[in-house]
Amino acid sequence: MKQYDIIINGGGMVGATLACLLASSGRKVAVIEAREAPKFIDDSEYDLRVSAISRASQNALTKAGAWDDILAMRASPYEVMDVWDEAGDGNVRFEAAELGEPELGHIIENIVIQRALTDALNGNSNADLICPAKISDFNVSDNNVLVTLENGNTLSAQLLVGADGANSQVRTLSGIDIDRDDYGQSGLVAVVKTEKPHEATAWQRFQSTGPLAFLPLSDGSSSIVWTLPADRADYYLSLSKTDFKAALAEALDYKLGKISRVGKRGAFPLRGSQATPYVKERIALVGDAAHTIHPLAGQGVNLGIKDAVELADLVANSTGDLGGMKLLRRYERARRGDNVITMRAMEGFRLLFGHSATSVISARNFGMKMFNQIPLVKNEVIRKAMGL
Ligand SMILES: Cc1cc2nc3c(=O)[nH]c(=O)nc-3n(C[C@H](O)[C@H](O)[C@H](O)COP(=O)(O)OP(=O)(O)OC[C@H]3O[C@@H](n4cnc5c(N)ncnc54)[C@H](O)[C@@H]3O)c2cc1C
Repeated sequence: MKQYDIIINGGGMVGATLACLLASSGRKVAVIEAREAPKFIDDSEYDLRVSAISRASQNALTKAGAWDDILAMRASPYEVMDVWDEAGDGNVRFEAAELGEPELGHIIENIVIQRALTDALNGNSNADLICPAKISDFNVSDNNVLVTLENGNTLSAQLLVGADGANSQVRTLSGIDIDRDDYGQSGLVAVVKTEKPHEATAWQRFQSTGPLAFLPLSDGSSSIVWTLPADRADYYLSLSKTDFKAALAEALDYKLGKISRVGKRGAFPLRGSQATPYVKERIALVGDAAHTIHPLAGQGVNLGIKDAVELADLVANSTGDLGGMKLLRRYERARRGDNVITMRAMEGFRLLFGHSATSVISARNFGMKMFNQIPLVKNEVIRKAMGL
């Protein structure tokens, strides 16, 4: 049986970040990952799944030893974010230049982040990536957690971390509950080319059915996330490319002109959730295993990476039991508030922009205009979202 300080189930963006941070601080870590790491092929088409990565996450990925690799593969900085309401003239524009920053963040394919983190993990002698592999069972005792893999191998550690996504196996096997709010919505994603240049701007139009975001990519194309009621998303997926392009250009009010090209399309169900609690004796949940939020402000993985940073810091500063409740409660106290507030804020925006009553439309457009005219407040909000 192999012994570690910490075993992480799930080597996605959050689990792999945590593993790299822990291994760099000298802890022995095993990562159990069900799927082979994705390959990145130079000059390939952009992948469907991208994330808007904040400065705080960039700093964490730098510390994890992955950022330079990410830049060497592919990352698209964006300098402006322009948000407006389909039902009025309210508009909010965030500009990196106003903050004295080179960019607001980077749009990066999830597979690129994953690839760079996997390479960093493989290069660290304190980390073992066990892949493809799955846990069949685990047993928590006073001193350790004993993990049995489906191939019969056993590992032990002081702490088992569930970083295994929204349907977390560790969460389920631990009997940890989850509060779920199914939005009945899907995020339709695709990579498209537009008639007009995107100007390194993330464009977001709030429609009554949900926001439509165009995220700028370095080759001039845009990655879209179109939040829609699930049946509308299915309908748009079923359209021919020609009809889809026409519907999409109209949905963005032709801000970037016509859509000249569309690649693959996909849709993902959207739900908000919070595990209660995030921790149990010798068990901790991070990332989507602990919480999911609406993608309208692109914060999901950024919150997960903050979980990873917090847990890694607590472990690095600990001389005691890494799976004891003292450390784990501190982790939960540090992270739950931020995650819940962000989730509620996203839900608030979703509901506010879903209203079609004239009084609500007038009020929110007035609010957007006022907000846009007070740089002090506006810049503070965007600084917080960037993690500055
Ligand atoms: C349409 C859409 C757009 C989004 N856009 C953004 C954005 O712009 N910015 C942002 O910050 N967030 C965004 N998000 C959210 C973001 O994608 C998630 O928050 C993020 O992927 C969570 O990362 P994770 O590592 O916690 O979980 P996951 O990405 O789900 O990774 C979990 C890992 O665990 C592995 N795994 C699962 N089960 C097991 C098992 N039983 N055993 C072993 N391994 C297992 C999986 O193979 C995977 O590698 C978006 C989400 C959606 C749906």
